[in-house]
Amino acid sequence: MHVLIGTANHITEVKSRLASEMNRWEKKGVSVTVRESRRGNLRFFDCILSKSQRDSSKERLRLLHELLVEILADLILTDCECSMVRKLVKEIYNYTSDEDLERACRFVGRNLQTPLSADRFHHKSRIMSRLLEFLQLYDEMVLEGFIRFRLKDYVEELEEAVERAVDDYLVEREYQEFIALLQRFIDSQETKFHQVHVVPDAEDGYRLVDEDDRSVDCQYVDDLKLVLATGGLEYEDLVISSLVILAPKQVVMHLGNGSRPVMADTLAHIFDDRYRECKRCDRCEENAPVRG
Ligand SMILES: [Zn+2]
Repeated sequence: MHVLIGTANHITEVKSRLASEMNRWEKKGVSVTVRESRRGNLRFFDCILSKSQRDSSKERLRLLHELLVEILADLILTDCECSMVRKLVKEIYNYTSDEDLERACRFVGRNLQTPLSADRFHHKSRIMSRLLEFLQLYDEMVLEGFIRFRLKDYVEELEEAVERAVDDYLVEREYQEFIALLQRFIDSQETKFHQVHVVPDAEDGYRLVDEDDRSVDCQYVDDLKLVLATGGLEYEDLVISSLVILAPKQVVMHLGNGSRPVMADTLAHIFDDRYRECKRCDRCEENAPVRG
């Protein structure tokens, strides 16, 4: 009574998992001997069940299947998934360096955990039931073949999720590069402004003023109203552009009515420790919603 597990790419993982599970099996009263052998590029682990006085052979085989199903499902969802994701990212993503590839893989990995976490349980139970079905019919399995032919739907879902995550990574990378470009630009500017305050203005959107409440002098700022009127570029983008051109030592974003505009995050990224938010001051008060 035995089950033969073969693998080409996950030899170390299968071996160490089987070894670490041995103790647990012994405690459950299942004594298993694992014999390793080689066939071509495949390594096989023959899990042989010892005889027991207590349980029937059918019962012991059921227990062996149960234990193997748990080990293999875990292995598929961690080590195998990790290398499948890596392979897919390598295929889809046009990386520029090993470091770039690493960053992309890490991003994709993180990204997959979140949307899949709800599906994680579903994935695992589906994989477990397929494993059990298979082991009840055959006493020999090659891990990679099983994934490829018996878990087609799971692999397809994984591929789609990786494609989406790589797209997200590209958007994120472009954004980061853009921010870095703006930061370099700001650092290279000679600024005449110590502080520029971004004050919400009910009529015009935002006013840019210096610490003495004087309107800051910038071609872009003059253009703001014009662009707003003609419905050109996104208004908040223009506020950001103006601030980049002005390159003040400090940007203070007044939240006024309490809602945080989308550009707040972008400004925080670009200006980093030069960026500050104010929730309450005289400038904010001017724009507080009228109560009563
Ligand atoms: Zn304020």
